[in-house]
Amino acid sequence: MSDAPAIRCQRLVKRYGELVAVAGLELEVKRGVCFGLLGPNGAGKTTTVEMLEGLQAPTSGSIELFGISWGKGQDQALRERIGVQLQATELGDRLHVDEVFRLFRSFYSRGRDPEELLDLVDLRDARHQQFSQLSGGQKQRVAVATALAGQPDLLFLDEPTTGLDPRARKQLWKLVERFRAEGGSVLLTTHYMEEAQQLCDEIAIMDHGRLMAQGTPRSLVDGLGDVQFLEFELAGELDSGGLEALEAVESVQRRGPRYRVRLGRSLSALSSVLGELERQNVVPIGLSTHQATLDDVFLQLTGRGLTEDNGNGAPKSGDE
Ligand code: ATP
Repeated sequence: MSDAPAIRCQRLVKRYGELVAVAGLELEVKRGVCFGLLGPNGAGKTTTVEMLEGLQAPTSGSIELFGISWGKGQDQALRERIGVQLQATELGDRLHVDEVFRLFRSFYSRGRDPEELLDLVDLRDARHQQFSQLSGGQKQRVAVATALAGQPDLLFLDEPTTGLDPRARKQLWKLVERFRAEGGSVLLTTHYMEEAQQLCDEIAIMDHGRLMAQGTPRSLVDGLGDVQFLEFELAGELDSGGLEALEAVESVQRRGPRYRVRLGRSLSALSSVLGELERQNVVPIGLSTHQATLDDVFLQLTGRGLTEDNGNGAPKSGDE
């Protein structure tokens, strides 16, 4: 099936005992697309990715990569078509960078020349360094290079830039963009909204093992409507009801001293909120406004930020 999507999974479920980590996921990733799977800690992203990669067996449901399923006699052929970014710590500490690349190249019948890989990930100067001596950003680039060693059609990246500084993160983004520009397909998980916005053609937001929303970054943000957000902190108390009663205000959220008001996207809406704060005689600290972002989409859907933990745990059996 030459025109089959890069990834298709249907009714995908993974249970760990009583806990349902993935709860009936339906997902389709077209070829040549960078697809972002977003969600807070514990949402089920890694479990999903590991099932797609063939590293974990689903409890139930089906997975097809390029129209081919795992466990049907074509696993080796499938492995040759995918690139999996291993967690950096799993690579041999004592190996030199170029040895790592040669080792990974040897796993595949076709692939990139290790010398080409060194240039691709900009590690030529570090080629004789031991893996353990590399910086965090360099280690991550080695990890991505190992995923590219077999010239895959589909690249899986599970939180590739967690813990990296902004420069190292951008270097990694460039690598992904180049792979994608050459026609490759990517499935990326991330906690970072800017990363998803920068790299992804399409995004699915996941929580409690389910997809909450899917679309282009723009369409997801536009789905929030014509709104803006006003955020501030207060040392004292505020009568939220007074704000909520304003016509321009859609909602008021509070977390400790921090308030977040969702309101219409106009100056008059903003001034009515500021007027109410003045009327209540409160002095907001660090007051700021912003247009809707993916993080706001996420908050709206889950009640939590992208970088927050899955506080409620995954759903129990029977919830799916
Ligand atoms: P993170 O962003 O923190 O990596 P995630 O979205 O990738 O989170 P998963 O790692 O897939 O989430 O975990 C989903 C749920 O399944 C969590 O509640 C987790 O504790 C649980 N879980 C994951 N692996 C196992 C396992 N091997 N045994 C039991 N429970 C597991």
